[in-house]
Amino acid sequence: MKKIIPLFSFLLLTIPGIYAQSAKKLHKKAILIDTHNDVLSSAVLDGIDISHRVKEGHSDLERWKEGGLDVQFFSVWTGEKARNKEGFFRDAEQQIDSLGILLLKNPQRMTLARTYKEVTRGVHQNKLVALIGVEGGHMIEDDLSKLQQLYELGMRYMTLTWNNSTSWATSAMDETKRGDSLSHKGLTDFGKQVVRKMNELGVIVDLSHVGEQTFYDAMAITTKPVILSHSSVWNICPVFRNVKDEQIKAVAKNGGVICINFYSGFIDSNFAKKMAELEGSKGKQIKDSLNQYYDAAKMNEIWRQHFSAELEPVRPTLAKMVDHIDYIVKLVGDDYAGIGSDFDGVSSLPKGLDDVTSYPKITEELLKRGYSEKSVKKILGGNVMRVMKANF
Ligand SMILES: [Zn+2]
Repeated sequence: MKKIIPLFSFLLLTIPGIYAQSAKKLHKKAILIDTHNDVLSSAVLDGIDISHRVKEGHSDLERWKEGGLDVQFFSVWTGEKARNKEGFFRDAEQQIDSLGILLLKNPQRMTLARTYKEVTRGVHQNKLVALIGVEGGHMIEDDLSKLQQLYELGMRYMTLTWNNSTSWATSAMDETKRGDSLSHKGLTDFGKQVVRKMNELGVIVDLSHVGEQTFYDAMAITTKPVILSHSSVWNICPVFRNVKDEQIKAVAKNGGVICINFYSGFIDSNFAKKMAELEGSKGKQIKDSLNQYYDAAKMNEIWRQHFSAELEPVRPTLAKMVDHIDYIVKLVGDDYAGIGSDFDGVSSLPKGLDDVTSYPKITEELLKRGYSEKSVKKILGGNVMRVMKANF
């Protein structure tokens, strides 16, 4: 017995190590693609050089390397109010320029891809492959020639709406919160023209952020597979931005991919409830009381600190995020799930997924759950590769 017990304990101790080791190998071998990162609007545009390791935020070139990332869709995002007086289109151009500067500074480490071939070439050169995803159809300013211009500047997906609707497509936020007061729901005739033009040019139709009506209208006319660049599962966390089972099945039928958003409030319903509670009456009280003493910027900073302190105990774990991948795989198979972190665009992340160095832990968790190497490779990037190939 004396000999058996230590042997048993030894085996038990090494099992997690075995996963970690094979996960590391697999993670290195696999093509890892993240379809959504907001570092351009949150840092690069403000002059922060992410060529080097930076303390703030979730991403930079050094940390991407550590995390084993191969392909990044850089989100070009602007909110309901344009930053530039010239408008949304100018905002998009400016952000694309900021990515251009980053690429010029790092020709050995990064490359911009406009075709599927350029993606595979960049991956084989061991560079971080950058692609441009425009988040929010308002940036084309109701003008198909601006859609064409953004395509020429490198845009390879466009999210039809952000939280704000356009004159031609309604958003998830508006369809759920404004409902009956909307003058139209879904895609207008012009909206359908936009989708057709995207198919024709080779710009992936991204259906994150859009309302259900817009989703089904777009699905009815697209001739190419779509993505949801950063959305999670409604049945696990029923919030307006997440997708229902019927939508997941429709994406599978279309051959598209749903890339899971890591935001704590989209993956865990307890966190979402706590967030809503804080934003409600209690939050307002705190905001009002602080308002007397501080300017708006300082107040927001204090408010953020307060938020994170209260929310820390209810932060979900990495396993909870992987539950969303699991759910999609069980519902429709392993060809339709991917990674769309929303790093640098969210205020809270699950424990263990703190920044872009954390990706290998996802591979480890998938292996622990019994996923085959082949399945893991599809989820990490293979599925998005398929959609890119079908589009450009
Ligand atoms: Zn978003």
